[in-house]
Amino acid sequence: MTVNAKTSQSAGNTWRDLPAAQQPEYPDPEALRAVIADLESYPPLVFAGECDQLRARMAAVAKGEAFLLQGGDCAEAFDGVSADQIRNKLKTLLQMGAVLTYAASVPVVKVGRIAGQYSKPRSKPTETRDGVTLPVYRGDSVNGFDFTEASRIPDPERLKRMYHASASTLNLVRAFTTGGYADLRQVHAWNQDFVRTSPSGQRYEQLAREIDNALNFMHACGADPEEFKTVEFYSSHEALLLDYETALTRVDSRTGQLYDVSAHMVWIGERTRQLDHAHIEFASRIRNPIGIKLGPTTTAEEALRYIERLDPEREPGRLTFIVRMGADKIRDKLPELVEKVTASGATVAWVTDPMHGNTFEAASGHKTRRFDDVLDEVKGFFEVHKALGTHPGGIHVELTGDDVTECVGGGDEIFVDDLHQRYETACDPRLNRSQSLDLAFLVAEMYRD
Ligand code: PEP
Ligand code: MN
Repeated sequence: MTVNAKTSQSAGNTWRDLPAAQQPEYPDPEALRAVIADLESYPPLVFAGECDQLRARMAAVAKGEAFLLQGGDCAEAFDGVSADQIRNKLKTLLQMGAVLTYAASVPVVKVGRIAGQYSKPRSKPTETRDGVTLPVYRGDSVNGFDFTEASRIPDPERLKRMYHASASTLNLVRAFTTGGYADLRQVHAWNQDFVRTSPSGQRYEQLAREIDNALNFMHACGADPEEFKTVEFYSSHEALLLDYETALTRVDSRTGQLYDVSAHMVWIGERTRQLDHAHIEFASRIRNPIGIKLGPTTTAEEALRYIERLDPEREPGRLTFIVRMGADKIRDKLPELVEKVTASGATVAWVTDPMHGNTFEAASGHKTRRFDDVLDEVKGFFEVHKALGTHPGGIHVELTGDDVTECVGGGDEIFVDDLHQRYETACDPRLNRSQSLDLAFLVAEMYRD
């Protein structure tokens, strides 16, 4: 790669002298450089103006005037770029969004873990099966899922495949969300169908009936707002592979500022959030709305330093803290963070990720999560904010629109013995369609309490 100080990308390269965790070791640096040069020439996947719009929406979340629904796969896969899979995921998110909008009576900002979520940080660099040890799978953007030596070698060409997979996914998402498919009445009809057919459906009948009445009332008044026909939907992923993210970081011609145009929002994960390392430096240079995952060891002092580094202007919407403590820790750990951040005068958005602190290995060997733990962490999150008078800003969940069997529990209960039936995730266990809708109705109930 020619890092010309005058190129638009150069200002996004300030992280290069710092330690960067979780980066692949490519066997051929020349091949990587050629790929980066190609990526730098590709068109943006999103516009800077759209990132600004999401930042404004996130400002409403931070101020308590909107709720964030962020969800999608733990790891997208190249062979998952199909109309069915994308549609099912989107449909599930839209259904959840409709329930939450009504219950919370505030706008729900909808952001997918989609169109770029191809890279995974891992706890261990290797994986051993039947006495054979190989490099771990790091996501389709890095190496192959197959447990063979050849497939686990990092291949920079995969970065280009990530770009193209993201582009096709985003294209379909844009078509679905603006082309009539996402009409609110249609989404509500899907929810009515869920309430009718799911084993726990009667529990949600009243809420579904209220939504129905509200829509009928609007219709009877002759209201047919444009807002019902299309949906604002944004893309997000973990900004993990800094070569890729930097190659897609461009100067916005309107403002002269840098935007990572690989997604509207990017977040920094629990394993790469070291304050003096590369990922935080990269995030500090771009204007996109930024999330940081905060695990149970996060101190209030660290949280304040993230604000100094990433949100020095104290701009609501710029910074989102995505808290993932675990159901057993959130009630102990979160209050101090929220109190000290609030006292500092910063207006960040607080979002709960009730998935990553609640993962365990079942006796069958499957990595799984209990639906009840997920729900309990969300409950704890709401309790903490209620006690402090602050705003529970949203949920960040791993889900799919398909009927997989990866998490146990839920209204249509999945048991440990069922896990093998449709365990399809390339990384962490996701809520299936019915568990996701259960969660939306239950969170909606919490919001109203
Ligand atoms: C993830 O979101 O898939 C993830 C790895 O999360 P965390 O960084 O919170 O562990
Ligand atoms: Mn995950």
